[in-house]
Amino acid sequence: MKIYILGAGSIGSLFGALLARVEEDVTLIGREEHVNAINEEGLKVTGVEEFTVYPNAITHAPNENPDLLILATKSYSTKAALECVKGIIGDKTWVLSIQNGLGNEDLALKYTKNVLGGITTNGAMLEKWGVIRWTGKGITRIGVYPKGNSRFAEEIAMLFNAAGIKTKVSDNIIGWKWLKAIVNSAINPLGALLEVKNGYLLENDYLQDILVSIAREGCMVAQQWGISFEEHPIEVIIDTLKRTSDNYNSMLQDLKRGKKTEIDYINGKIVEYAEAIGLKAPMNELLVALIKAKEALVR
Ligand code: NAP
Repeated sequence: MKIYILGAGSIGSLFGALLARVEEDVTLIGREEHVNAINEEGLKVTGVEEFTVYPNAITHAPNENPDLLILATKSYSTKAALECVKGIIGDKTWVLSIQNGLGNEDLALKYTKNVLGGITTNGAMLEKWGVIRWTGKGITRIGVYPKGNSRFAEEIAMLFNAAGIKTKVSDNIIGWKWLKAIVNSAINPLGALLEVKNGYLLENDYLQDILVSIAREGCMVAQQWGISFEEHPIEVIIDTLKRTSDNYNSMLQDLKRGKKTEIDYINGKIVEYAEAIGLKAPMNELLVALIKAKEALVR
């Protein structure tokens, strides 16, 4: 199977490295420094497992149709990244997003009807060019977007599981995408604004109440759009905070590095979906504004 990974940064390179152990034709499409390091010394994984692989690595997609194109850029780069590869999305190509936030799969649907949605709770960090730290093993869920079944999704899940990426197929992937977005909408901006580890959000009574109110607002919007959940968002928030109590969330890490955050695709999308049906999501709106103000301070 010909697999391209578009946006080979932290999570894309981890998936690429794991897939390259079981599949010959894996190509990482990333930035020049990372690509050069991989071509010179291979792609090293450290952390949960330690190994080195030698996948193809390039800065621009070659002129061939892949069977699977994995989208792994930050959500704010998806539109531009898809424009760069639109010529190689063939009739039989499937596009799979493993990104956080809402809207990435909808953008992919503009280029093909073969779209798989995905979420992953694996953690990865680019340690230096050519070296990825696998910070935590998690579960990946994939499925035909927005809903449905296909043999290809089952095939991909089998391949991922063989590669060591624990994966389950869902016929309600849009529900999982919303669930993860609601979880992130509560945890990420709060942790980022207060600059605290995830554990503190559970320890402090004020913050617990705020987390629940943000999540309830997201759930109200999701419900209006007919989204159903396989797990209860508030229970997932509590479980996530317990499991990751010692971590700083990715939004805070982005701000610390002076990088743009994914706020527009998490809380921002919840606001957009609310407004599209004449509702308001004031807590999410406030969090978008506060994170934008903080971005302006640090960038
Ligand atoms: P990341 O480390 O910033 O990786 C994305 C990479 O894609 C960057 O190197 C970026 O380069 C590159 N890129 C952007 N546009 C490109 C293009 N057109 N061609 C080639 N490369 C391009 O981000 P990440 O942490 O892997 O996160 C990616 C997505 O996965 C996000 O939605 C995130 O929320 C989600 N996610 C991440 C994790 C994790 O543990 N890291 C876990 C679950 C989900 P520039 O920076 O130069 O643009």
